[in-house]
Amino acid sequence: MQLHNLKEYSQKVSFVDAVKTGLGRNQGVFFPESLAPLSDVDALLDMDFVTRSGKILSHLIGGELPSDTVAQMVKNAFNFPVNLVEVEDNTYCLELFHGPTLAFKDFGGRFMAECLAQFNQGEKVTILTATSGDTGAAVAHAFYNKPNIDVVILYPKGKISLAQQKLFTTLGDNIHCYAIEGSFDDCQELVKKSFLDEELKSKLGLNSANSINISRLVAQVCYYFEAIAQLPKEKRATAHISVPSGNFGNVCAAMIGAVIGMPVGKLSATTNQNDTVPRFMLDKNWTPNATIESLSNAMDVSKPNNWPRVQSMLDNNWFSYDNFYSVSVDEQQTQTVMKKIQQLGYIAEPHTAIAYQGLVENKAADAVGIFLATAHPAKFKDSVEDILNVELDMPKPLADALAKPCLATDMHNDYGILRTELFKKLA
Ligand SMILES: *Cc1c(COP(=O)(O)O)cnc(C)c1O
Repeated sequence: MQLHNLKEYSQKVSFVDAVKTGLGRNQGVFFPESLAPLSDVDALLDMDFVTRSGKILSHLIGGELPSDTVAQMVKNAFNFPVNLVEVEDNTYCLELFHGPTLAFKDFGGRFMAECLAQFNQGEKVTILTATSGDTGAAVAHAFYNKPNIDVVILYPKGKISLAQQKLFTTLGDNIHCYAIEGSFDDCQELVKKSFLDEELKSKLGLNSANSINISRLVAQVCYYFEAIAQLPKEKRATAHISVPSGNFGNVCAAMIGAVIGMPVGKLSATTNQNDTVPRFMLDKNWTPNATIESLSNAMDVSKPNNWPRVQSMLDNNWFSYDNFYSVSVDEQQTQTVMKKIQQLGYIAEPHTAIAYQGLVENKAADAVGIFLATAHPAKFKDSVEDILNVELDMPKPLADALAKPCLATDMHNDYGILRTELFKKLA
């Protein structure tokens, strides 16, 4: 896979180098120069999830990795199911929360860990990542106890749920966590600054595990094919998929899937009140506001890192603007929708409810809709129980994490302080 930097086209890298470096020069993200279509999509859709995913990833990555290596990496990473559940006529929920940290980020995090284990044998690596809630846990679990790898996680203090937080701050060992006094965008800014710091970067062997990292995105393409595969055959081509979006990595993966031949009609990237993209779609002006806190905190992002990738596919007409929707759902509506879904006999946490609403607003009457359940409702126990007046069972991984003490360190939103701390601890 040949990629270029979307801010400096002259910087070209292989897949392996893109995974190892994360972000390109001038803070540009890497993206494939072209995406070749898959040859026999129908045959692929007949395969089981793991076999098919190996083939899709081999196709995307190309000759850089032997296909049996990729197959084994997929087998290690995707060791939990993807479920498609019909919640009402012609509307399905794609449950992506059956992994170890109960959110879809397990797919990308675990595949990225497999990639780095392959590429970085013996070298020291420090994964530095900002999390708006669920990345931290997925990455921490994927890399926990891996030799030669340290993980540093920055998260906005007090702005993520206790369950989200405890799933990574309780691990210890090679997992180092900092509660930053600021927003997710502030954390993201600190990560970007670190990557521009050549001394820090080389001494620590810095690598980002954000959805900036292309290995996470390509892994996520696989579950969209699985969603389509689980639909009745005659319904596939009209499918309209709604993705709850924050940093826009997940919907980027859906679009990559469509570009390489996945049968899908339309895509919705649905946001909370952090509506930079929905406003951009109306007037093509990029005017991020300050980040607003919401019930769907993993999407409290006003400067989505992956938007340049999505926009490049739209601008190049790899995917038509006519088939791409982006609306925002406010706090009041989020709660109303959660209740409405409850009446259908399903429990959705806030992110999932937003995806459902994105479908309701734009899906054609005769189309089949799929909305993504990106997290288990118990991960947002407090708001879900409060809004829906129910009591949720705690899945075991969560109950275990909640019982342990938080090992994170508080930190001001200050790059100098972070830099000193990282040198002291890890250089
Ligand atoms: C990260 C996350 C999102 C947003 O995904 P992006 O790829 O950043 O758009 C949505 N829902 C949940 C539960 C998440 O953890």
